[in-house]
Amino acid sequence: VSESRVERVAVVGGGVIGMSVAWRAAAAGYRVCLIDEAPRSGASWVAGGMLAPIAEAWPGEESLLELGAASLRLWPEFAERLASESGRPSGLRTEGTLVVGADSADRAELETLADYLKRLGWTVIRHSGRELRGLEPSLGPAVRGGLEVPGDLAVDNRVALAALRSAAEAAGAEFVTARAQHIGPGAVSLSDRHDDDARSSTVDCDVVVIAAGARSGALHSTLRGRIRPVKGEILRVRSRGTALPPPRRTIRGPVHGRQVYLVPRDDGLVIGATQYEVGFDTEVTVGGVRDLISDAERLVPGIAEYALAETSVGFRPSTEDNLPLLGWLEPGILAATGHHRNGFLLAPITADAVLGLLRGEPPPVEVKAADPSRWGVSG
Ligand SMILES: Cc1cc2nc3c(=O)[nH]c(=O)nc-3n(C[C@H](O)[C@H](O)[C@H](O)COP(=O)(O)OP(=O)(O)OC[C@H]3O[C@@H](n4cnc5c(N)ncnc54)[C@H](O)[C@@H]3O)c2cc1C
Repeated sequence: VSESRVERVAVVGGGVIGMSVAWRAAAAGYRVCLIDEAPRSGASWVAGGMLAPIAEAWPGEESLLELGAASLRLWPEFAERLASESGRPSGLRTEGTLVVGADSADRAELETLADYLKRLGWTVIRHSGRELRGLEPSLGPAVRGGLEVPGDLAVDNRVALAALRSAAEAAGAEFVTARAQHIGPGAVSLSDRHDDDARSSTVDCDVVVIAAGARSGALHSTLRGRIRPVKGEILRVRSRGTALPPPRRTIRGPVHGRQVYLVPRDDGLVIGATQYEVGFDTEVTVGGVRDLISDAERLVPGIAEYALAETSVGFRPSTEDNLPLLGWLEPGILAATGHHRNGFLLAPITADAVLGLLRGEPPPVEVKAADPSRWGVSG
């Protein structure tokens, strides 16, 4: 696809990835149509919203850490521009993250993480339990030590999605509520169209961007069987007058070897997340909720007084190597999917990469590892 011929871009999927791409492409002058069959239902709607490449880093996943760190550097400017172009708050929070541990095995895991991150040159500050409680008084007595990771940020996912939609609309993007049934270079055929313009069953375009999250596999033969859903359950709790105020930083940690995190919101916390390989099972299980509450309560005991406001399920769009898929699948068809546990973190760099590809420019260097060529696709 030559750069000069690209004018109309169809984006399939209106989660954080599709919406970021639609906004930035519309703002850059492309005629954008975003197609989503069920807005506010995907992984982006339920996500915790951590922007945490550092605390999530692990030896062997260096490409993911580099990609995540590059995108994290873009977040402050992305958020500022989002707020200014949408006229809404972006939802970004900059208080940072504490990774904490209770029993000795969990604290040993944190030592491994701290050593690894220090070797890579990241800022990580070790703290005793008392020091941690000085920073966040809601941490319980079981917390015996941990790490402060000031660089890892967070965003209120639903606030950010509302801002992205407003910014995309303000930039001229059109929104269509329908299922993309078939994708080909030059057109997306629709079914189940629900919006005002129910007459048209095709969206014509020069480029289609597949950003359908965990369901992307149904849209292109290259993605079939390679983007799989990883189920996650997550809770929303609301603080009440009687309880200690929630922490201001994201709190995360292994508890008896299981990962749990508590991400601040203006009115409470998001507690996540379970992880299962069970296909598209949409039900919240009793065991999942029990584990999340008991692990979170060990770190922040005051949540017992909070209201349990919501339990939900989402599907991480996952790939074999945990890296997303960003690039041409064939002329006229771009993939921007497979963001696994990091769709919010990676939204700014994904939008930059897609814009670069639409213009015929090479994507940012850290995005190379996410190129479909690693699957033998020559685009
Ligand atoms: C429990 C949980 C917690 C998470 N926490 C974090 C976190 O803290 N930080 C972070 O960065 N990431 C987190 N993630 C991961 C993140 O949510 C995902 O990587 C991200 O939301 C993927 O965004 P997306 O836009 O690709 O997909 P989605 O948000 O799933 O959006 C896909 C959209 O495509 C639409 N769609 C699908 N098929 C079609 C079709 N054929 N036609 C039309 N529309 C279609 C759907 O309706 C949906 O709206 C979490 C995920 C889960 C499940």
